[in-house]
Amino acid sequence: MQSRAGQLKRAGRTIAFVPTMGFLHEGHLSLMRIGRERADTLVASIFVNPTQFAPGEDFEAYPRDMQRDLAMARSVGVDIVFTPDDTMMYAQGFQTYVSLEELPRGLCGQSRPIFFRGVATVVAKLFNIVGPDIAVFGEKDFQQLAVIRRMVKDLNFGIEIVGGPTVREADGLAMSSRNAYLRPEERPAALSLHDALRQSQAMVRAGERRADAIIAAAERHIASFAVNTIDYIAIADPDTLEDMASVDRPARMALAVKVGATRLIDNMALGR
Ligand code: AMP
Repeated sequence: MQSRAGQLKRAGRTIAFVPTMGFLHEGHLSLMRIGRERADTLVASIFVNPTQFAPGEDFEAYPRDMQRDLAMARSVGVDIVFTPDDTMMYAQGFQTYVSLEELPRGLCGQSRPIFFRGVATVVAKLFNIVGPDIAVFGEKDFQQLAVIRRMVKDLNFGIEIVGGPTVREADGLAMSSRNAYLRPEERPAALSLHDALRQSQAMVRAGERRADAIIAAAERHIASFAVNTIDYIAIADPDTLEDMASVDRPARMALAVKVGATRLIDNMALGR
């Protein structure tokens, strides 16, 4: 991959890159379509990255379907799908990690303390291998997008990071490879994430500014489903991800909820 990317660059071709963990859905494809528009060559990667899963998380169970993924990637004009394996990415003796100081502390970092170190490390490696001019990430993983933007700035990667809007099912559920885990009877509970975010947007539009009041209403709605366990609900500055007490400027509401055994996340802009 690295030498192929070198050839492409020497031939004057620009590269757009979309990293994924596979089990592709319309959310991934939307990012690939953005990448397709923005460069001569479109590269996607499929790699379920072991270093971002803690023991007891779903690394082994994570859904995989390479043949289907390759056909879907081809259908949106991906030129190269990079599919390394674990030993290729993490050879014996591997010991160099990328970790950020502040951005990974809150939100998902609270319950997944090694997650962003794994993400930043694998994305840095993929950037070095693929050498893209631009890379596209989903706003669905809002904290991840902030971490990647920061890392690219801090370590001078010189890659343009583009954020793509969250693609949802018709009923509003944010698309996720992990939705495959949901039992049919858990679906209404899963929908409560989106409903709570919409309800919060409506509260802000109606003049509510107090973050604690908005969060309390969202909590009530989500907790009204017995299978739900709230990990966090936060209203944060879109850049620093620090908690905001008042929605007196654009803010991001982000939440993580365990619906039965499935951990889902979602987020939305408030006050814009
Ligand atoms: P994943 O395969 O879940 O690691 O996601 C790969 C990329 O797709 C990340 O940049 C995600 O933010 C993005 N992504 C995942 N779900 C969605 C979605 N529903 N809409 C837009 N982008 C998404």
